[in-house]
Amino acid sequence: MLHYAETHFRFPVSRLYRREPVILIDAPFQVCPEESCPIWLIARKANLFAIYVEEIYGQWKNASGKSIPFKLPIEKQFDKKFHFEELNFEKPENSSGLWMLNIFVKYKIKGREKICERWNYPFLPPEPLIINFLKEAPPKPEGWLAGETHCHSSYTSDSVEFGAAPAVLQKAAKAVGLNFVCITDHSYDLMNEKKFQKMKADAALPLLIAGEEVSCGNSKNQNVHLLVFGNENYIEGHGDGGRRWWNTKPDLSIREAIGKHLAYAAHPKLQMLPVEKILLRRGHWSYEDLTENNICGIEFWNGFRGRDFYEGRDLWIKSLLAGHKLLPLGGNDSHGDLNDYTAVKQPLWSLKCNSEHVFGQVRTVIPNNGKIPFSEIPKNLYITDGPALWFENGKLYAKSTEDFGKFLSITIFRGCEGKPNFEKKEEMKIGDFYEFEFDFEIPLNNSLYVRAECETTCGKFAMTMAIYSSLAA
Ligand SMILES: [Zn+2]
Ligand SMILES: [Zn+2]
Repeated sequence: MLHYAETHFRFPVSRLYRREPVILIDAPFQVCPEESCPIWLIARKANLFAIYVEEIYGQWKNASGKSIPFKLPIEKQFDKKFHFEELNFEKPENSSGLWMLNIFVKYKIKGREKICERWNYPFLPPEPLIINFLKEAPPKPEGWLAGETHCHSSYTSDSVEFGAAPAVLQKAAKAVGLNFVCITDHSYDLMNEKKFQKMKADAALPLLIAGEEVSCGNSKNQNVHLLVFGNENYIEGHGDGGRRWWNTKPDLSIREAIGKHLAYAAHPKLQMLPVEKILLRRGHWSYEDLTENNICGIEFWNGFRGRDFYEGRDLWIKSLLAGHKLLPLGGNDSHGDLNDYTAVKQPLWSLKCNSEHVFGQVRTVIPNNGKIPFSEIPKNLYITDGPALWFENGKLYAKSTEDFGKFLSITIFRGCEGKPNFEKKEEMKIGDFYEFEFDFEIPLNNSLYVRAECETTCGKFAMTMAIYSSLAA
């Protein structure tokens, strides 16, 4: 994955190479009521290309035609490798709903005055920041915790991508309504035990759990990614880091990388560029890779519901029907990317911007058992980008808010015995009286398991883990 895009990579030639630091403005995609809205000015590699930022200016706009101009003097030299400068912003008054922020940076480089809108990425038209000021906190059951299970920090920093500082992720998490964040930087960026321990110390902030996205070898000896949360020590894995092009062989097999850890398969069916397959020896997780190793779950919802989500979910269902009790995980694989996702489209040639891997958008929600999240295998769990959907005490509960829309569908899937085993689908009857809240008695009957999915009018989605007995009493 290639995120907060890097424009200083010029081997052999790059149309994207710039003798300027990367400059960009980022802010959370949503803000909970009562929370402030942090906005950051980010500069990378200003140690090589120093800039003097004079001011930031622009305007807020919303759908009811309100427009609020602002001007913020900065008057500051930027000359470090990384800057995450929090801007002193007031959110608009009575701000609920969607707001657009057009934002400009006025800076000087080598005596020349320049202005960029949102960022200075070459050949990438500026996108405004879009921020959803929620009317209510995102719904979840009482006493449960919502978390990000796959994101990168500034400890992922190489020739093509970089992430946000742990302190930035911590503040952004609070704004978007997360209770915990697993920081999963690449093993090939963490490099060694020393750097891993430094990242752990840096991430020792409330809400943050330091982990790792380990590159390891699947059954075809291709590099696949494994998520480990809260590991004591660094786990080696440099195969597809791009720094060791003469040897892209995985250092450890999946089994060796897991060792005694609780581990989850990251993006099992990720869509990749042919160059990643050929030059970095990247591969996919197969059914055997998942079921013959000691995997606790699979993160097939990796920021958005594209082909990899559906193929990953099929793989998960196939495992469930064969009796492998794997958990579904939802994460975003964001590298910074608080508002939208900027990345390399064609290496050395073009960049892109979309909303596929935004920090905190897809969440994994688990009961709070008083321990550090994911220090044990969660007993119950659902994944969502909006509504809550969970089994408890023999019932299925669904809850949404005005921010995320009414329910369009709530569907039950039962694992059934057959030759081969199969899933049976039942649509729940939803009238429109209790539009935002439902509960249903769901007997397990003779099913192998029961699981549920729901969809809302705002295109938001949630799904539960598979429940095997007494519907999580
Ligand atoms: Zn990955
Ligand atoms: Zn990742």
